[in-house]
Amino acid sequence: MKPLEFVKPGSIQEASQLARSNGASARLIAGGTDLLDEIKEGVVRPEKLISLAGLPAMQGLDVGPSGLELGAGVTLAELASQPDIVGDYAALAQAAESVATPQIRNVATLGGNLCQRPRCWYYRSIGFPCRKKGGTTCFAALGENKYHAILGGSDCVIVHPSDIAVALISLNASLTLTSADTTRTVPVQDFFEGPDVDITSENILVPGEIVTSVSVPAPPASPLSAKSGSVYLKAKERRGMDFATSSVAVALSVSGDVISSARVTLGGVAPVPWRAAAAESVLVGRNVAEIDLQELGEAAVHRARPLQHNAYKIRLTAGLVGRAVETLLSDWR
Ligand SMILES: Cc1cc2nc3c(=O)[nH]c(=O)nc-3n(C[C@H](O)[C@H](O)[C@H](O)COP(=O)(O)OP(=O)(O)OC[C@H]3O[C@@H](n4cnc5c(N)ncnc54)[C@H](O)[C@@H]3O)c2cc1C
Ligand code: SF4
Repeated sequence: MKPLEFVKPGSIQEASQLARSNGASARLIAGGTDLLDEIKEGVVRPEKLISLAGLPAMQGLDVGPSGLELGAGVTLAELASQPDIVGDYAALAQAAESVATPQIRNVATLGGNLCQRPRCWYYRSIGFPCRKKGGTTCFAALGENKYHAILGGSDCVIVHPSDIAVALISLNASLTLTSADTTRTVPVQDFFEGPDVDITSENILVPGEIVTSVSVPAPPASPLSAKSGSVYLKAKERRGMDFATSSVAVALSVSGDVISSARVTLGGVAPVPWRAAAAESVLVGRNVAEIDLQELGEAAVHRARPLQHNAYKIRLTAGLVGRAVETLLSDWR
């Protein structure tokens, strides 16, 4: 058995410095629910694990008039059950509740969920040295691609596995990324990058950089007779624990009877959580009574290019988007 050193730094800056100076031989670990699987599967072989667990700067869940402030170390179970999140940021609570099992949600962290690696079965098997692992072939492109991308895939057709990311993008959230000497804030949408940018990674983190917190703005302040809300719907193959075959988070505001703002994000269909801008255009400015759910669904997937085994995702996703909008509007009728 290969020895593995476990280090508990006392601060984010120390954790960052350790990660940077040890390079690929070290990995950050939070709840460990994804990383330990990767190690067991032999996909990564670190010599050192740098623990983020318990660092005070990564804890905390505050709800205020301007929104939510979440430490990246908050667990998914906390996100799913906190009453203010369930009430005012429903898509986030529903996305958290949809992840895995209670045992995993009790340990898995917000930061770890956003930074988890892809579930592509070729990537997860050491028998397949695919492009993401530095090889020259995407085995999924012409192989078993039932769960892969219908949108935005190029040389790698993974789907991004995080449910939480999809909800956060529709809620217009941003992330704080901290390293030993810098801090920057980015919209969650800009955190993820596809294989056309760097096929070996899924986000913009540079060596030593750590996701330390997430900010979610409060739902738009409502003038008289305005309403806003959000919802997360997830389709999966099994009723129990499963990743999304397709998912959607919709956040809407309605003034009078007219939709004043809409954010629609898709999960399980692209290498990054996918903002469905064309679907948003169908919604904004429309009277709620005039929304054509078929037109909406078609707009959401109009750029889809399925692989051999995943064309089913097109209708599934179109239907899910329509159902999400219908669910929100029917709550307000
Ligand atoms: C059986 C099973 C079913 C699952 N089903 C779902 C599902 O339906 N939906 C879903 O969204 N997820 C699902 N997951 C994935 C699960 O949500 C993630 O494993 C979990 O959220 C990762 O959090 P963690 O704290 O355990 O991260 P870790 O395993 O500790 O870390 C994951 C990765 O992120 C990096 N990392 C961790 N924290 C940070 C940080 N703050 N800054 C920078 N890098 C960081 C680590 O280096 C590592 O590469 C499932 C997992 C399992 C095992
Ligand atoms: S989809 Fe990406 S991770 Fe999967 S086999 Fe192709 S290159 Fe590898």
